[in-house]
Amino acid sequence: MSSLYGVYGASGCGRGIMPLARKQLQQGGISLDRLVFVDDRPEASLINGHRVLSYAEFMQEDADVRHVVLAIADSAVREKLAARCALDGVKPWTVRAENIVLMDGVVLGEGAVLSPFVAITSNIRIGRHFHANLFSYVEHDCVIGDFVTFAPGVKCNGNVLIEEHVYVGAGAVIKQGRPGKPLVIGRSSVIGMGAVVICDVPPGTTVVGNPAKPLLRG
Ligand code: UDP
Repeated sequence: MSSLYGVYGASGCGRGIMPLARKQLQQGGISLDRLVFVDDRPEASLINGHRVLSYAEFMQEDADVRHVVLAIADSAVREKLAARCALDGVKPWTVRAENIVLMDGVVLGEGAVLSPFVAITSNIRIGRHFHANLFSYVEHDCVIGDFVTFAPGVKCNGNVLIEEHVYVGAGAVIKQGRPGKPLVIGRSSVIGMGAVVICDVPPGTTVVGNPAKPLLRG
């Protein structure tokens, strides 16, 4: 059976994930000509040695099974593309750097991206299409929803509940919650880079600073 593998998104995020995807396939003895970028607005036909196909071209390539990792930071786009891929029978693909640390009792949803130096300790549940960028960690007993994105260097301490579509900026620190009373970051919130989050964040809120407070606009 011939499989085709796509890194969906050929911009910054995708170019950072492609080398991990390539290593993963090489280790599985899979020929690298089966690995392509997929992009709906391709800026070139070849990027870093890989062909760039539109989604329609990807679907037309000769293959029995198609796998895709959604390599786009915007979680709403990931959700849209995940739905399209599911309808077309394209399988979600999890891509992990070689040196990640996964401890005990980790349940990781489909289509995750775990970049170099990511650590996920014990008894953690993570939803679909999670992105953990370079040097991020998730400590014990956290629950993370679908389509959550961690920029580089996020420190998420124990007993934290992060609802779906939350974006956590580079270097943010999230204080630990307590067993049975997690610190909660509400759906679609944005945690600014370098923020120090010490209490719950309501859904749809952008917080910045130390201690993190809602961003006042205007
Ligand atoms: N993209 C796509 N289909 C979509 C939305 C985005 O192929 O429905 C591609 C877009 O053409 C671009 C990439 O995804 O090449 C997103 O790049 P961007 O620089 O905006 O974000 P990042 O790479 O940081 O996630």
